Amino acid sequence: MRPLHSLTIVTLFLLATLQISAGSPDILTGILTVTWGDPIQGEEGIPPTVFHLTEDSGVTHHLKIDPALIQMAGGLQQLWGQRVRVTTTVDGTDRTVMLLEKLGEIRAVTAVTGSQPWVSVMCKFPDVATEPQNLTFFLEMFDNSPGRLDHYWRELSYGTIDVVGSTAAGWVNLPNNQTHYIPVPGEGCLDGNPNNDADLGALFADCTAAADHLIDFSNGGNPFVGINLMFNSDLDGCAWGGGWSATLDGVSKVWRTTWEPPWGYGNVSVMGHEMGHGFGLPHSNNWDNDGWPYDNSWDVMSDAHGWAGSDATYGTLGKHTIAYHKADILGWISPAEIFEPAPDSATTIVIDDLALGTTPNYRMARIEIPSSSRYYTVEVRGWTGMYDANLPGEAVIIHEIDTGRSEPAWAYDAAGTPGSDSSGEGTMWRVGETFTDPAAEISISIDSQTPDGFEITIGVGAWGLLFSDDFEGADTGAWSVAVGG
Ligand SMILES: [Zn+2]
Repeated sequence: MRPLHSLTIVTLFLLATLQISAGSPDILTGILTVTWGDPIQGEEGIPPTVFHLTEDSGVTHHLKIDPALIQMAGGLQQLWGQRVRVTTTVDGTDRTVMLLEKLGEIRAVTAVTGSQPWVSVMCKFPDVATEPQNLTFFLEMFDNSPGRLDHYWRELSYGTIDVVGSTAAGWVNLPNNQTHYIPVPGEGCLDGNPNNDADLGALFADCTAAADHLIDFSNGGNPFVGINLMFNSDLDGCAWGGGWSATLDGVSKVWRTTWEPPWGYGNVSVMGHEMGHGFGLPHSNNWDNDGWPYDNSWDVMSDAHGWAGSDATYGTLGKHTIAYHKADILGWISPAEIFEPAPDSATTIVIDDLALGTTPNYRMARIEIPSSSRYYTVEVRGWTGMYDANLPGEAVIIHEIDTGRSEPAWAYDAAGTPGSDSSGEGTMWRVGETFTDPAAEISISIDSQTPDGFEITIGVGAWGLLFSDDFEGADTGAWSVAVGG
C-alpha cells in the first residue's frame, strides 16, 4: 500500500486567495461524507460532488469546500468518512468551509474485504403510482449468477468481496410527495446550483424510516454495510452514490449509500458505479481535460454506459474498475502482484489481464514520477471475463495518478489531440510501441503479447532514457533488454 505521512492531525489553513464572504464564522465537528451525482446517459453539465458534515447530535449540514482545500488535504480519499472540524462562514443557505482540520488517525487505505451485505429499500412517492419493478427483481439483483451483483463484485475483486447476505424490502410509501424532495423532478443536478439537487438527507431519512418495520438495519449484530435507496420515479436527473452518516436501529456509522431513480436500478452498470462510490471510489478520467469524468472507456467508475455488455433483465452491465482503484483504494491487489521498479533499472515483466481471476504474473505496475507525488499505473485490459468483454481492445493502458485532483486517475492518451473518450489508439499501447516520459526518465515498452497479457519492459532513471529522444546515440529501434523479471 502507498505510504502516507504519519501525522495524526493535519491542519489546513485557509488559503490566502480564498475570498471571505460576508457572514458569521461557525465551527462544526462531525463526520464528513462525500457523495457523487451521476447524470442519466446523454446529459451534459456540471456533475456534482457534494459534502455533508453530520454532527454527533445527528444534525447534518451541506458544506461547500473549495477544490484547493481538498487538494491540500490529500484528496477526496483522505476525507471520505473522516471525523473533521470545520470553520465555516454562513451566508444565506450556503455554508462555506474556510478551515478544515482532520481529527484522528489517517487511514492508509480504505480496503474492502469479505462479505458486504447491502439492503435495497424500495420507496414510493405517494403522488406517483408506478412500481417499475417488483421485490423479486430487487432480491435477484443480488444473486451470484452472471449479470447480477454478487457475481459482478466477486469477479471484480478476485473473490475478495461478495454481497452475500444482501436483501431487499418494499414498496413502502414516503411521507411526502416527489417535489418535497426534488425541486424539479428529472432536472437540476447538472446546473451547478446545489439548491436544485435532490434533498439526499430527507430522502435517506424518510425512506429508511418508512421501511424500518420491514428491515432491521443492525441485521442481528452484522449490520448492513450499505443501503440502496430505490425510488419509483426520477430524482434530480442524477443517480447518487457515496456515504451517509446516520443512526439506524441503534447502529451509528457512515452507511455506504446509493440513491437510485428507475434508470439506475434498471441498469446494473449504474448500480455498480454507485455502489463503487459507496465503497469509496472516485471517478477516473481520460486525457482531454474537459472536466467531464465519464469518458474513461476502461472504468465502470467513469464510462458506465459505453463499451459494456447487457442483460435482458438488468440492462447495461458494469465493466471492471481500473488497477489504481483496485490496488490503492480497495486493497484487492496484493503487493506481490504489483511491480515497482528499482531506481535506475530496466526490467522485463509480464503483466496479465486485470480481469483474470488468478495469475502467476503481475497484475499491474506502479511507477513513481520523481520529484512529484504523482505516479503511473500500468495495466492490461482485454476481453477477459464476463464484464470486460466489450472493451475497445486488448492493450496495455497507462494511467497517471494524482491523488489531489477530483479524478485521481487519468488514462494517458498519446494522440496529438486527446480523444473525447479513451477508446482510441492513443490510449491503447500495442506490441512495438513505447511510452516515454523523458522529463521523468520513464519508459514503458510493449515487447510481445502473451497468452494472458503482455511482456513489458519498464525502464526508469538512467535506463528510462534509453528509449527516449533525450538519450543521445541510442538506436532505440534495435535495442532490447531482458533484465531481472
Ligand atoms: Zn459517479
